[in-house]
Amino acid sequence: MSDPTADTKPALSNNFLRSIIERDLALAGQPERHFAGTPGDAAHHAAGPLDAARIRTRFPPEPNGYLHIGHAKSICLNFGLARDYAGICHLRFDDTNPEKEEQEYVDAIQEMVAWLGWDWNAGGTSHLFFASNYFDFMYRAAEYLVTAGLAYVDEQTPEEMRFSRGDFGRPGVDSPFRSRSPADNLLRLQEMRDGKHADGAMVLRAKIDMAAPNINLRDPALYRIRRATHHNTGDTWCIYPMYTFAHPIEDALERITHSLCTLEFEDQRPFYDWLLGHLADGGLLAHPLPKQYEFGRLNLTYVVTSKRKLRQLVDEGHVDGWDDPRLPTLVGMRRRGYTPASIRNMVEATGVTKSNAWLDYSVLDGCLRADLEGKAARACAVLDPLKLKLTNWAELFGSDAHIETSSAPAHPQLPELGQREFGLGHEVWIEAGDFMEVPVKGYHRLYPGNKTRLKYGYVIECTGCEKDASGNITAVLASVVPDTKSGTPGADAVKVKSAITWVSVHEAIEAEVRLYDRLFTVEQPDSGDGDFLSFINPQSRRVITAFLEPSLAQVAAGDNFQFERHGYFVADRIDHQTDRPVFNKITGLKDGWSK
Ligand code: ATP
Ligand code: MG
Repeated sequence: MSDPTADTKPALSNNFLRSIIERDLALAGQPERHFAGTPGDAAHHAAGPLDAARIRTRFPPEPNGYLHIGHAKSICLNFGLARDYAGICHLRFDDTNPEKEEQEYVDAIQEMVAWLGWDWNAGGTSHLFFASNYFDFMYRAAEYLVTAGLAYVDEQTPEEMRFSRGDFGRPGVDSPFRSRSPADNLLRLQEMRDGKHADGAMVLRAKIDMAAPNINLRDPALYRIRRATHHNTGDTWCIYPMYTFAHPIEDALERITHSLCTLEFEDQRPFYDWLLGHLADGGLLAHPLPKQYEFGRLNLTYVVTSKRKLRQLVDEGHVDGWDDPRLPTLVGMRRRGYTPASIRNMVEATGVTKSNAWLDYSVLDGCLRADLEGKAARACAVLDPLKLKLTNWAELFGSDAHIETSSAPAHPQLPELGQREFGLGHEVWIEAGDFMEVPVKGYHRLYPGNKTRLKYGYVIECTGCEKDASGNITAVLASVVPDTKSGTPGADAVKVKSAITWVSVHEAIEAEVRLYDRLFTVEQPDSGDGDFLSFINPQSRRVITAFLEPSLAQVAAGDNFQFERHGYFVADRIDHQTDRPVFNKITGLKDGWSK
């Protein structure tokens, strides 16, 4: 099978994670890493062969929302590094929290990872995993820590616990329950598991150091009591592991080598190593253990990416759903017309750093143009239509009903895509901006007495315009200059300084075209104190009626095109129909239309 991501070139220079991986792969004297083919504990993997994958990474989404551009960064990093270093990337649903997770998100996340071009199947096996399948092991790990004197059940109230944890300036204070015997704690933990205590009545905590300068090491919670039906395990459990406990274990059971996460987890790394180290000492997990590395988050300017805020925009109707083309969700970006390659290339181009980055849509748009310039079929569209009447048509061709056939390459560099054919009749739609009754300096398009070329058609000379009673221009008048048809001998004898795009009235396809602008009026709508909703751009979407050339009559939803002079457009995935075409503008052309 061909690799759909092969066109995404690794940017070797700006990726410190590559240096780390290369260093690790070159290290001598490493313990051998066995992998039994499925996730499991030390004994399970010890019985398996040496891991054929040189590295293992994972993308670990929580199935509680739709993926956004920031997740795309993590996806492309994890899958891209695995691809580049003969490794395997797992898609793991971090579904340890029973409250907010739904099948709808599980499905949508898989669809988007695959859409981006990545595959969690490698060597004929699926590497799609669910953390909730590890609940048994996690509980066993908890019992082990208790038995080893490394964890205890704390019955303080949440308020007491919060207070006794201290803060940056104040060391924590030991819980009165901290010195219970392992046997006592084990009994309590088993009672927690068996539903003998109310939700929130007690938690299991690691026993590390209440005075540690790193607050994450002040006896972090490992398990809580929560009676909730889990989408996978149903009512089997009434206790659920905390994320900080569950995540390192998930990595270790899956034999992840490089666990990449965003910077806010940096302070969790000591606990990650503490936990896995102790579980390995106890023989539950196998060496070598996974290592966590942090990279900067990716944020996009003029939008929000927090799941909570995205949900608010959707739920309150500020946008038209999770796939609204103005949202930075991957479903929204796909609908807008961004291609998987443009997103992958953006991630490569921006690299990975140790600080959170703010990306402008212009970077993404540059990557989109780079991808589509060489691929997207060309077409003519008139977005702001004004009628042009060719007044000497009947005189030249015998009748106003006469149609001249024009053609143009579907793509100037891809002759294999063939030619587009379209007719030129006595009335055509042109852009309103291509006519000026009184031209400004440097204007070379239509104005009385000036000549221009109807692209792929004839040179015409403007003779004036028609107006309605209130003086609005209703049509432009011009005459065809004979013997100037593009592609015929001598066509260039008459020199003109411009060429304009057009669509003939007799065969123009009427279409709805949706033009998008920034969703918010400020770069970082959720950074200040103010309500981010107050920064919504009321003009973020404009819907117009445009006329398209006939080659666009039979396109599939999701197909993208370059509308000559205007930019890149996509047939809307949801609303486009052959008898009711709907296109979204993705982005403009790099250097617009000059003169
Ligand atoms: P959000 O904060 O937007 O709700 P999250 O971090 O809670 O996102 P998860 O489902 O836990 O969402 O994320 C899955 C993975 O994607 C994690 O490894 C996380 O670090 C990574 N990730 C999330 N947001 C970004 C981002 N903006 N840039 C880079 N990676 C991200
Ligand atoms: Mg998260």
